[in-house]
Amino acid sequence: MGGRVLIALGGNAMTAPDGSASPADQQRAIGEAMAHVAALSRAGHEVVLTHGNGPQVGNLLLKNQLAAHVVPPVPLDWCVAQTQGTIGTLIMNALQRELGHARVAAIVTRTLVDPADPAFQDPVKPIGRYFGEDEARRFEGHGQVWRRFDRGWRRVVASPRPVEILDASAAVALIDAGFTVVAAGGGGVPVVRREDGALTGIEAVIDKDLAAAALAVAVGATDLVIATDVPNAAVDFGTPRARPIEEIDVAALRELQAAGHFAGGSMGPKVEAAVCFAEETGGRAVITSLHHIGAALSGNIGTRVYRGVER
Ligand code: ADP
Ligand code: MG
Repeated sequence: MGGRVLIALGGNAMTAPDGSASPADQQRAIGEAMAHVAALSRAGHEVVLTHGNGPQVGNLLLKNQLAAHVVPPVPLDWCVAQTQGTIGTLIMNALQRELGHARVAAIVTRTLVDPADPAFQDPVKPIGRYFGEDEARRFEGHGQVWRRFDRGWRRVVASPRPVEILDASAAVALIDAGFTVVAAGGGGVPVVRREDGALTGIEAVIDKDLAAAALAVAVGATDLVIATDVPNAAVDFGTPRARPIEEIDVAALRELQAAGHFAGGSMGPKVEAAVCFAEETGGRAVITSLHHIGAALSGNIGTRVYRGVER
């Protein structure tokens, strides 16, 4: 009846509305999110989930930094893997409670990136919390890149494009076996392929929306739903002329994108992900708020992106 739906959950699905990420906040937010997700499953869709990890990986980095004199800090790709494990576990528990069965699985997922990606030449993605200059300089001594922002110094890392979701075939096997699958959390653990063919982790973070699009293509999703905290992508966002985008084709959305309507680091990657998925598969991509995901799949809510005439 339903299709195979890839849902990408944003930060608001995993932290309190003010962005705080205590264990209780995370559990409560995930519990609420899974009620919406389970409704799609009950409506007959095959559901595949992915999620962001910004606050969680930021907290882990901070622990590593504060405890560096006691326990050796671990690389960033290890931190991403850890957040996949903890967030995946919370999602599994909440989903099992909602669905009443245990056919739920979270997959530790690696995402291949290209070591020649220009992002590695110019790391711009801020992660973790702000520090003073002295501490920033000390961390620079450990090979990290730090930049001065208005509110202080912050570590920046490369955010290369996902080339391939390496563990997508494990996801497909489980989906085909009837599991609700969580994969590529936090964009996936970033790895590169060395010259001898071996895979190795690399210090980077991968945008979760771009990874969601790659995962959606790889698992043969019919729909990509990007669940965030606004009901629609808008033109002239943040101005009195702001207007929600309803149904749109890839060519028209690309024009709006080129005209600068979608902020980098927030709506920009969501629009890029929607365009890539619709263009490559002919499937539908939807950008909407979490509590609208059911209505968005069956109705006229959210920003619905189609490849073009064939819809
Ligand atoms: P998530 O945590 O769900 O990935 P983000 O905070 O990264 O979400 O992105 C969603 C935010 O993008 C919205 O809350 C809004 O403030 C911002 N935004 C930027 N440009 C636009 C736009 N053109 N239309 C709608 N929202 C936009
Ligand atoms: Mg957010």
